[in-house]
Amino acid sequence: MAKYIHPSTTPKPPPTDARGNQIHNEILLGLSADCSELLSKLEYVRLKVHSVLFETGDSLKSVYFGNSGMISILSVFPDGKSVEVGLVGKEGFVGLPLLVGFQTSSTRAVSQIEATAFRVNGETLMEFLPRSSELQQRLRQYSQISALQITQIAACNRLHEVHERLARWLLMCSDRVGSNNLPLTQEFLGQMLGTRRSSVTVAAGFLQEAGIITTARGDVKIINREKLEDVACECYEIMQLQAAEWRNGSK
Ligand SMILES: [Zn+2]
Repeated sequence: MAKYIHPSTTPKPPPTDARGNQIHNEILLGLSADCSELLSKLEYVRLKVHSVLFETGDSLKSVYFGNSGMISILSVFPDGKSVEVGLVGKEGFVGLPLLVGFQTSSTRAVSQIEATAFRVNGETLMEFLPRSSELQQRLRQYSQISALQITQIAACNRLHEVHERLARWLLMCSDRVGSNNLPLTQEFLGQMLGTRRSSVTVAAGFLQEAGIITTARGDVKIINREKLEDVACECYEIMQLQAAEWRNGSK
């Protein structure tokens, strides 16, 4: 007997831009028709691994709506050391200072793995923004979610152990990429967590011995997400719960 599929469970293909590129960005998805002018001006871009979108101090000529992959926001010090303070995927936007009239970036934005984004000229976005209260609201809400993340990660970097932070970070990456396979080297993990590579090796070894992840050259695979959530510090849950509460309570 043929299996009945309820119409509402049939997956819809994702919407596309005028050139047929699938839109996954959650800020852009579902925008009403009055945003079609802006949508027509978005440029689909592919970002290779470790592409720098902005350096600290750069003018924000273009801004990016994340579409796939991950973009790290890094705080960079004069001696070249850096630590990740934010992570942007398909839920987010890169170029927040511009929304409040600030013209330069205070951080570095770099794609961690291959990523795609919709890029738009900053002036074009700012000309359009006063005409769409809907887009203004979505970007303001994302700005607050981003501030929540940055605040929590700052506390996390100071207070929590490397293996807890690594677990928290892998969960955040997995959510953004939508996969348990993360093409990340341990050297890069160390840069993101602002710690020595040897500390990351010890922390990754701990997670591997506990049967939570496997690591091979240039790849981390999450094999037990439930345990990974148990090992992660409370920061992951705090961010998830707060963001969900805001989203559920928003109009
Ligand atoms: Zn933490």
